[in-house]
Amino acid sequence: MRDHPDLAVVGAGAAGLVAAISAARRGASVTVLERLSWIGKKLLATGGGRCNLLNEHLADSAFSATNPSLVPSILKRFGGPEIRSFFEGLGLRLQTDETGRVYPATNQAASVLKVLELEAARLGIGVETRFEADRIESTAGRFLISAADGRKVEARSVVLAAGGRSYPALGSNGSGYDLAASFGHRIVKPVPSAVPLLAKVRMCHFLQGQRMRVRIESRVGGEPRQKAEGELLFAQYGLSGTAVLDVSESLSIALNREGRSDTTVVVDFFPFMSEKEAAAELARRLAAGWAPKDLVSGLLPEKFSVFLPQLLGEVSDGSEKRVDAESARKLALLLKAREFQVQGTRGWNEAEFTSGGVDAREVRPGTLESKLRPGLYLAGEVLDVQGGRGGFNLAWAWASGFVAGLGD
Ligand SMILES: Cc1cc2nc3c(=O)[nH]c(=O)nc-3n(C[C@H](O)[C@H](O)[C@H](O)COP(=O)(O)OP(=O)(O)OC[C@H]3O[C@@H](n4cnc5c(N)ncnc54)[C@H](O)[C@@H]3O)c2cc1C
Repeated sequence: MRDHPDLAVVGAGAAGLVAAISAARRGASVTVLERLSWIGKKLLATGGGRCNLLNEHLADSAFSATNPSLVPSILKRFGGPEIRSFFEGLGLRLQTDETGRVYPATNQAASVLKVLELEAARLGIGVETRFEADRIESTAGRFLISAADGRKVEARSVVLAAGGRSYPALGSNGSGYDLAASFGHRIVKPVPSAVPLLAKVRMCHFLQGQRMRVRIESRVGGEPRQKAEGELLFAQYGLSGTAVLDVSESLSIALNREGRSDTTVVVDFFPFMSEKEAAAELARRLAAGWAPKDLVSGLLPEKFSVFLPQLLGEVSDGSEKRVDAESARKLALLLKAREFQVQGTRGWNEAEFTSGGVDAREVRPGTLESKLRPGLYLAGEVLDVQGGRGGFNLAWAWASGFVAGLGD
């Protein structure tokens, strides 16, 4: 083991691996410390195994952070074009889908990890697995990093790239926050993000397993927070699917950080029609003699009809027989904006991302060096920087990792 490198990188995830490569390319000796038995485990699970590593529409506005000027200062040095040519330079062919999501042309996350591993080996980067850093001390201008089993590495500088707290089985267990806090860093309370939602209502139970294309909005205290259009998946516990994950952050923050309970999502089951068109179509069907139970056939999945009697009951004094033009109009309104009370999230084991982390005001814009301890750099999800789904979070991991590895 190389135990006196110039740079020790804590965490061999997306940010840590790129930080190590960027540092080694400028001539530094580097050792990467990883708590799991192998490196890049989370990378392999990204994008459903395809790794959505970047988005063509990468822009400062796609991110939020405690310090809004931090992301622009990093993307200016290493943004979308640089990330693209970094990977192409490693031999990775890329493809972009119609929404701007960038994937490896092989459609395999394993290809992304492989080219990073090859480059790390070519540069002679040392890798220590099963090394869980549980203490970092700094004395006389050097850092001493200790693992629970007694192993130690001493380095001139450190990149802390230990990730957040989401999907602990893939490595990131929140220990990076404790290491940062030991230098006095403030931690913005981490909450699960990009996570399915708990909504204990009969509709979810009835329709579990059903996927639908919807428009969705999160609300806190009745105020709109996030909007998305995409897939909704009904589950026994509540709501999942890409559209739900896309609006989950605002609700998770409200529930888990602000202690709110007035959290809802409003689902538009007819994103392809206006309210007026939906009302007219349902009224036309009724007038043409369609049975109430068939009113949404051909518009919504057939499984939906299982739940239609309850919805019709809500809009027609509890009786299917009293369904008239007015109830057809009310049904259309209901399906355009069905509100679900959200009681919680599915938690860390199902969250794709952590919202919160080390206060982004405590690192220097442009370099990511800690303002509290010179020589300590922070990169990736451990920082309180959030990107939307669609390749933005990995883009942040690559960009911040590369810049942190430059060390100036
Ligand atoms: C299922 C899933 C799918 C995703 N899909 C996408 C996607 O397609 N596109 C996208 O942009 N984002 C995606 N994300 C989010 C993205 O993977 C993360 O934002 C990104 O990996 C963060 O990179 P990181 O290097 O900061 O942290 P991580 O990738 O979490 O890496 C941190 C590493 O540090 C190690 N570590 C932690 N603590 C210690 C310690 N004390 N000592 C030593 N090592 C330690 C961990 O084991 C881990 O290997 C997905 C996330 C998940 C969970």
